[in-house]
Formats: sequence, C-alpha cells, structure tokens
Amino acid sequence: MDEAKNRNRLGTSRREVLQGCAGTILSAAAMLLGEGEAVRLRAQDSVDPNPLPATDSRYPMPPSWKRELRQLAPNVYAYTQGGAPNIRFRGISNAGMIVGEDYLLAIDATQGPIPAKAFIAASKQATGKDFGRLLDTHHHGDHVNGNQFFTHAEILGHPYCRAEILKAVESTPKMWSPAPGVADVTEERRLVPPSVTFKDDLTYFIGGTEVQFRFAGPAHTWGDMMAYLPQHKILFSGDVGFFWVAPLANNSYISKWVETCDKIAGWDVDVIVPGHGPIGSKKDLADMADYFRLLGVEARKRYDAKMTPGAACAEIRLGRFDNWISPEHLLANVVRYYAEWDSTLTPDYDAAAVREATIEYNQIKARARKTGEIIPLSRMDEIAKQAS
Ligand SMILES: [Zn+2]
Repeated sequence: MDEAKNRNRLGTSRREVLQGCAGTILSAAAMLLGEGEAVRLRAQDSVDPNPLPATDSRYPMPPSWKRELRQLAPNVYAYTQGGAPNIRFRGISNAGMIVGEDYLLAIDATQGPIPAKAFIAASKQATGKDFGRLLDTHHHGDHVNGNQFFTHAEILGHPYCRAEILKAVESTPKMWSPAPGVADVTEERRLVPPSVTFKDDLTYFIGGTEVQFRFAGPAHTWGDMMAYLPQHKILFSGDVGFFWVAPLANNSYISKWVETCDKIAGWDVDVIVPGHGPIGSKKDLADMADYFRLLGVEARKRYDAKMTPGAACAEIRLGRFDNWISPEHLLANVVRYYAEWDSTLTPDYDAAAVREATIEYNQIKARARKTGEIIPLSRMDEIAKQAS
C-alpha cells in the first residue's frame, strides 16, 4: 500500500523516473536534464500537458458539428455545443429539452451565462414556452453552472449531485467575469443546487412524452442521472457519454462506468445525446467504453511494472482514440485507474495526483525533445549499430 502511495508522488528518485522511461532514447535524454531544470519544472504553476498526446495519422479525425437546437422527435430537442478537430475543447456541455403543455423540461443547464441564455432563448423561440423543470445529470460545473438562469424551474438531481454543489457554493465567485464562450459581461453569479433529489428512477409524463430519469452511477460520478425516452428510443446520457471527445474520469469509477455502457447496449435506444460531442448512437457509446478498455490494458501493464502514472501517460498510445478531442484527459484517466487498482479510489477528484502526473509527463516529454535536438535519429541508428 505504501509503495502504491509512493508511486503517486513526484518525489520518486531520478532513478525510478529513468526506469519509467522506455527505451534508450528517453533514458539518454533523461541524462541531459540537470537537477536545476527538474526543480524548475516541478515549480511551474501551469500543469497543462505539454506537448499534448500526439494524434495518429492512420486513423480518422473527429467530424465537425454545429452548435444548434435540433429537433429529434415531436416535442424533443437536443441543444449541442459545436466542435471540430484541432479546436480546443471548451468543456461546455450539451443539453436537452422536452416540450410540455405548460412548460419545458431541460436536461442540464450548461456552463454559464452565454451558453445557458442561448439555450433558453433558442428554446423559447422554437416553442414560445419557458422552462419549468431542470434535471442536473451530475454536479460538474459545465452542466450546472447555468442553473441560476433557469429562474422559474424546479431543479432535480441525485442527492450526491446536490451535496457536491452545496460544497462548491462557498468557493464560487460572486460575479461572473468575462471568459471566452462562457461569460461576456460581469454579472451576478449564484450556484443553485437541485431543490428536489431522488436516488433511483423517476418518470415524468410531460406533453405526451414519457421521460424516465434513470440512475447510472457510480459511473462518470457517484450521482449520474440520465433521461430515457422509450417512445422515441432516445437517451440523454449526460457525461456517461463522450463522443469523439476523450472521456474525462476525474470523479469516476471507471470499471463501473464501462459496466453501465455495457448495460445501455442492451436497451432499446437508437439515438444518444452525449454530455460532450455530436449526437450519436449506442455504437458511439460502445466506442467510448472501448477507449477505457484499451486504456485499461495499456495502463495496467505499466501499473504492474511499477511505473508512475505520469511515466505511463508519456508512452501510452491509443490508436484511433489518440485523435479524439481533448487527448489530455488521458492524465486524469490513468491516475483514476491507478487509484482503482490501488483500492484508494474515492468519489473525490485527486487534483494533486493529476498535477504530479502531468508535471512528470511534461518532464519526460521535455527530455525526449532535447535528445531529438541534439542527436538526430540517423546518428542514433549509427550509435546503436556500433554498440551491438
Ligand atoms: Zn462531467
């Protein structure tokens, strides 16, 4: 157990880090890095992976899709955020809308004033009605930070979702500040939790549409709710579904999440509106589960070889999944898998472990780059020949 804990610390010796680097090229590179530079890298505030995990030209890139309110069936709409390959993922969630006689029901509130107001305005324009109910599929800010703009809606969610939102209220700024795609002006900000909670399944009959809220967790979080419309074979999956976007397991129980995907494969569903990515089907959900299955195999090999998560991420390749948007989610996902295997998994996000993994990943990539500059590959071949 102690050893498992140590594996998550950056304070591993240089020797261990070297062992984590596969192949002579990386090891040679590591030797070029002075201790001073290692300290400097460790002290960096920014922990974005740099460079991002590379794409793979043998496989297709994601499609482009639009930000739009799209009708899927009578009285049923999806509101998707747009996306395209090589465009940085903004993380704003998709949403859903069901039209009742007197009011609209929303599935997720998106991330902030710009997307929430745009969703509300598009829904009003299409139906002439206002939102009276809102389901928060889970507590993540990109799904619930827009709650405050659904002024007259009763908000529903899992008790865990409500508890996590309440925990975040104190640290949430009192004002929105301008941020690209999220907020354009400074205005009052309030984090509003669900006022109605339910643990299992709950069905709404609204305007002739049966909307089954189904508990999916623990999967992406410990409080995932989905909305299933049996008449239309449509599923609003929340973040149980990421299509063409690498799933993010920061609060997840990955092996249970994969089980949930396998369960949905047996449901009568034709169309899935994911939390992130374009509208798809059960095939897309199975693809996402395959991302985790493949990552599970690749990460497990390195876990068993006692590599740190950061060193594992620096060399893991995922084939066609390397081209999915937001490949950097790999870091959080590997940390999460390691926690599951170490039996240290909790519902909370282990930000410190992800930060450590990212710093180490960056160090290893920096070393590899240095070697690339100093010793051309052709020369490396010659050296290898001489050595053998
Ligand atoms: Zn989420």
